[in-house]
Amino acid sequence: MSLLINVGNTCYLNSVLQIILNNTELITRLREHTYVDGLIPELLKLADKSLVPINTINFVMVLQKRAKFPIRNQNDAHEILLLLIEIFKEESLVFREFFNGQYNTNYTCCSCGNTRSVTEDFISIPLFPRETMKESLEDYIKTEYLDKIMCDNCEIPVKTRKKIKIRVFPRVLIFQIIRFISENKIKHNQHLVFRNTRYLFQGIINHSGSLESGHYTYTDSHLVLDDSKLYKMRTMTPKDHYLFIYSN
Ligand SMILES: [Zn+2]
Repeated sequence: MSLLINVGNTCYLNSVLQIILNNTELITRLREHTYVDGLIPELLKLADKSLVPINTINFVMVLQKRAKFPIRNQNDAHEILLLLIEIFKEESLVFREFFNGQYNTNYTCCSCGNTRSVTEDFISIPLFPRETMKESLEDYIKTEYLDKIMCDNCEIPVKTRKKIKIRVFPRVLIFQIIRFISENKIKHNQHLVFRNTRYLFQGIINHSGSLESGHYTYTDSHLVLDDSKLYKMRTMTPKDHYLFIYSN
């Protein structure tokens, strides 16, 4: 648990860094290797349990060289998450194991049964807010029917069944709640089970305010990490929940 100083609109970055910094096993694994340069050495300097606020400016400077947008502007937490994981994956295979999932999308022709499968990597899973996390997940993998999709076998556009199947579950599962659509409220579970693997709730990234000027914080079950401030959580505001983090 590190307290990270906001060096100018960097609450979105600080909150996302907490996903990594609060994963003790990940930090331990990263420390088993030596790094000549790159972003990981700067990341490890932020992993500190002393509760003394840490200046993030060196991390931000190194990251800025790799980013195509100004880091010290208000940015989207999910966007920086994807960028960070891509950079870290290039620097260490450990990040691949912890954050890289894979899913298949199967497209089956309703006329001849011909199936086409597309495999893609993922870092997060987008979910529409439903009453519970389980319902949101079921919604994500439910069978969909699409009209007029080209079938290679029938050689005409046909009704097609689309089904997502997760092939590789990463150690850290991140759900991005699609917001600004409805009253988004979602109750999180303390644990989730996929293919006999038990995931424990690790934390939530919250976003309050508007798209243009908002504030990001990270919460676990009891505490709120708000840049360099730490306080006990009083009430959860489900409409602010943006990213859910589970890990095993
Ligand atoms: Zn067909």
